[in-house]
Amino acid sequence: MIFKRAKRWNLLTQIKLILLGAPGSGKGTQAKFITEKYNIPQISTGDLLRNAVKAQTELGKKAKVFMDEGKLVPDKLVLELLEARLAEPDCEAGFILDGYPRNITQATDLERITEIDLVINIEVDFNLLVERITGRRTCKTCGAIYHIIYSPPKRKALCNNCSGELYQRDDDTEETVKKRLKTYETQTKPLIEYFLKKGKLRTLVSDSTIDMMRLKVESLLKETFY
Ligand code: ADP
Repeated sequence: MIFKRAKRWNLLTQIKLILLGAPGSGKGTQAKFITEKYNIPQISTGDLLRNAVKAQTELGKKAKVFMDEGKLVPDKLVLELLEARLAEPDCEAGFILDGYPRNITQATDLERITEIDLVINIEVDFNLLVERITGRRTCKTCGAIYHIIYSPPKRKALCNNCSGELYQRDDDTEETVKKRLKTYETQTKPLIEYFLKKGKLRTLVSDSTIDMMRLKVESLLKETFY
């Protein structure tokens, strides 16, 4: 009860969330919805890294080698990007971390910088994941996410929101996806136990549509922060 009341006050200032889940679990899609509804930024370390790769920074060049192999980029590099992003003014109201932390070291790094309110763990049947990721298409301009079968754009290969061109990420091919899923199993999954022990984790099973999942996320957020 005290926890709930404290959280209610917290709503006035900050909401700090982590979205945890395997590649293809729909973290990014749900993060976008939370961003719009609660007006807090989505911080995707995958996006931060892809931007660094695109800009051909020194960090980006180093990171690309790991990303193309479906491996985690070294913790220090990701932390450097994340710290810079969290220092930006739009994070004052809170944020949703999508894709960070991805191992225990990153979790302890994060806890040194800030305190997290809630970790939402999105659980998906393993067999669904490969299909979901290989069918994923992303808008080059606004980052909106589609699926060629489950949520196709209205016009082929064009974004519904901004008419931007849709593309398949370099690491969304079947071979790299399988490696990424393995990396998730061995390095990221232990975080479930880690945050559960801290009393911060809630698991949502993603067994239905994107909209159903959105309702589950929404009711969890209401329960926790109102
Ligand atoms: P997904 O969750 O679908 O794998 P992301 O966009 O989150 O997609 O990540 C793409 C790639 O970027 C990862 O496979 C990894 O190489 C790198 N990456 C993203 N976030 C991190 C992180 N927190 N630590 C290390 N590497 C990361």
